Amino acid sequence: MAIRLAGKPVSDALQEELTERIGACRDRGVEPAMLLIRVGERDDDLSYERTILKRCEKLGISVRQKVFPEACTQEELTSCIREGNADETIHGIMLFRPLPKHLDEQKIIRAIDYRKDIDSVTRLSMAGIYADDPKVFPPCTAEAVMRILDYYGISPEGKRAVIVGRSQVIGKPAAMLLMKRNATVTVCHSRTRDLPQVTKEGEIIIAAVGRPEMLDASYFSRGQTVIDVGIHFRPDGTMCGDVKYDEAEPLSAAITPVPGGVGSVTTSVLLEHIVRAAENVVK
Ligand code: NAP
Repeated sequence: MAIRLAGKPVSDALQEELTERIGACRDRGVEPAMLLIRVGERDDDLSYERTILKRCEKLGISVRQKVFPEACTQEELTSCIREGNADETIHGIMLFRPLPKHLDEQKIIRAIDYRKDIDSVTRLSMAGIYADDPKVFPPCTAEAVMRILDYYGISPEGKRAVIVGRSQVIGKPAAMLLMKRNATVTVCHSRTRDLPQVTKEGEIIIAAVGRPEMLDASYFSRGQTVIDVGIHFRPDGTMCGDVKYDEAEPLSAAITPVPGGVGSVTTSVLLEHIVRAAENVVK
């Protein structure tokens, strides 16, 4: 039976560590704080916002919220971000996306100071990840994958890691983080030939394909570590990932569940980024 790589113990351990680090910031007169910017009332944003607010309140991270109507202008959003950049009491800035179609999202994102880019959306953050710059924050989900491996003592060192998905937010940064930890990385995508053959060769499989339960038993071989990044809702309202858990689990040495796996660690990583940004100011 596979080891279940639950996210909660990983989040709990990180939360405990953050409590101490926030205390140390406060002792030195810095109160970790973020600016949270939302446009409109999308259900996804509201649900993620509730989670962030609850978690921040519990930890004692202050959140300044700015909510704009759907019809807001480019200038309103950009000047809100600029104010956040200039405000020394704000350490991290997060903007819910996608933005409404009439706004130039890339232009707005570019306004975020990369030192406050806790959600890793700017080009400078991306470039920093590829350049191995320790000052930038990696995308939260990619970093959550690494946190899970570390917590459960699964070292990527020298292992063959296969990532299914090459998106800017998950696949590509996860490849960089795994490579940094000396894994031999293969990145697959929709044009990869004989995908099951490739995934079967891996020792660590990262499923970030964005297709509900696409990876069935035919994609796995015995003894693999499987990290499922996918988040989907079935028609009956239950959740699933990119992996067919019931088929992959009997073959795997270790596997993340959905729900209760990577998703639950991702928010904790975002909180860690706020604290790290505040620590950078204290230093
Ligand atoms: P995405 O931008 O849609 O990228 C999907 C990737 O999978 C693309 O590179 C695509 O290839 C590849 N792909 C699609 N169909 C394929 C196929 N049949 N065979 C092989 N590769 C295929 O998705 P994403 O934003 O990276 O998200 C991936 C998953 O993570 C989604 O399920 C999403 O809900 C979930 N997610 C989870 C979290 C979390 O905290 N756990 C956070 C964000 C997202 P091409 O490049 O060739 O198109």
